[in-house]
Order: sequence, then structure tokens, then C-alpha cells
Amino acid sequence: MVVSRSFADLVGPGRVVVADGAMGTSLMAAGLPAGAAPDTWNLDPAGAAHVRATHRAHRAAGAAILLTNTFGANPVRLRLADGGEAAERAAAICAAGVALARAEADGALVAGSIGPTGVLLEPYGDLGVADATAAFAVQARALAEAGADLAWIETMTDLTEALAALDAVRSVAPDLPIVVTLAFEGARTIMGVAPGDAATRLAARGVAAAGANCGGGYESVERAIAGMRAAVPDLLLVAKANAGMPSAGADGRSTFPGTPADAAAHARRVVGLGASVVGGCCGSTPEHVAAIAGALRAG
Ligand SMILES: [Zn+2]
Repeated sequence: MVVSRSFADLVGPGRVVVADGAMGTSLMAAGLPAGAAPDTWNLDPAGAAHVRATHRAHRAAGAAILLTNTFGANPVRLRLADGGEAAERAAAICAAGVALARAEADGALVAGSIGPTGVLLEPYGDLGVADATAAFAVQARALAEAGADLAWIETMTDLTEALAALDAVRSVAPDLPIVVTLAFEGARTIMGVAPGDAATRLAARGVAAAGANCGGGYESVERAIAGMRAAVPDLLLVAKANAGMPSAGADGRSTFPGTPADAAAHARRVVGLGASVVGGCCGSTPEHVAAIAGALRAG
């Protein structure tokens, strides 16, 4: 089992590290009601057991980085779900999320997940940058105080929002390493951000790593990693792809076409393109993580 004290110890040039798979789709498979905020399960005994089981399975599959179940645990996003009553519990949800991941980490790093607010920022929407930063700061402070090893800002489509989250982390935990990944579909994010531009801007802000997650699946992530590598040759890069693009099953739940073998083939390709960390996003099960770990062990 990999034991590391810090992200810099674990990840570096010439070393490839396995990260975990999906949390949200795992919780949906465990019965999370549609429209409910997955993060709120951190404070529910039965839900927390599912969160821990997912972490445990990812760790057993070979993940050396576990992302907390706190993707949407900022006050702005929590206000959108469950009638909004969870918004005032954002900090408690984040602290519990770190504890649940730590309980199953067994030497793996615990990365505090920070996803988008779910609201468009100005000038496209009504949320001001200062308000977004304040919401992210509530989340980042709770994650840092609970002992997260790093902050993991993910699934961003608007670079302004990604930078607001980065500023929030820096404002409350100046020494915490920060990873930022964006969701690309085809050549850009849905907000029009190109991989090379994102990499250049994020590298200039001193992130520990940048990369691509979720979005359009394996091909989009590979294209993004290639673009980031071309723009910034020495930036550490992270790939956490969806298991392909989902389709709605007969029961209304999303199903993902990507198999563990697909994930393994993707892992080899994306490392060849420059990724140093490979995991999975939506639809990626512990079996996908194990396949990635096996592919990377085999070189
Ligand atoms: Zn995803």
C-alpha cells in the first residue's frame, strides 16, 4: 500500500499515481434519491456507510488518492437542492466528508473535493465572483480544518469560477496544495475554455497539478491532456474521465458504456500523453480503478 505524507511526495515527474473513481454515481447506485445532494449523506448514518464503502472499495482497488464526498458542499450549491435547508450545514458536511475518507484512507491522500456552485457566474449569470469566492471559502476552510491533504477543484467549465475557488482555498489555507481539473467536451469546456489556455492560467497561479475530469469521456480527456501538455510542458497533469457518455436506462438511471478494459486502455494512452495521475469520474467503479491500476503497473 502506498503511504505518502504529501501530494509532492506522491506525485512527480516520471511517477504515475492512481486516483479514485466516481462517488456520485456510486451513491446513486446505492439508492440516493434523484435530486438529493449526495454530500448530505455524510451526515446521515446509513448514507455515510455507503460513502465509506465507496472509499474502501476504491482504496482496495489501488487508489492512492481519495476525493471527499463534498463536491457540492458549498452554500450556493446546497441552496439549490433539498429545499436549501442543507446550506447552513456546508461546513459540517465538509468536515464529515474528510473524516469518512480519512477513516478508509490507509495511507492514501485525502483530497477535499470542490465542485462548481451550479450557478453561472457574471457576466453569463447573476452570481458575482466575490459571492462565489465566499461560498467556496466556507467549503475550503472546513476541508482544511478537518485535515484534508490537498484541495481538489474539479468539473469546472468556467475558468473564472475555477480561479474563484482557487482564491478561496488560498485565502483560508495558503499552504494547501491545489489541484484544478476542468470538464471538457470535445475541444473545449461548455463555457468555451480551451485546455491550453486553462493550463497556462493555472500554471501561472502555482497549482500543484491541473487536468481534465468528467465531461465527454475518454477521448475528450485525452485531447485535453495533450493540449495542456503542449501548452505547459512541465505541469503535472491529472486525468479523471467519465466511463463514456451516459444514457438513461429503463429505470431512469444513467448507465455508462465504458468498461474496465476501456478504462485500462485509456489509462495507457493518457499517461503516454503526459498524465501523472489517472482515476475515473462518473460511471467509474472500483473495477475501473482496479483495471487502471493494473494497466499502469504493467506499464
Ligand atoms: Zn463526472
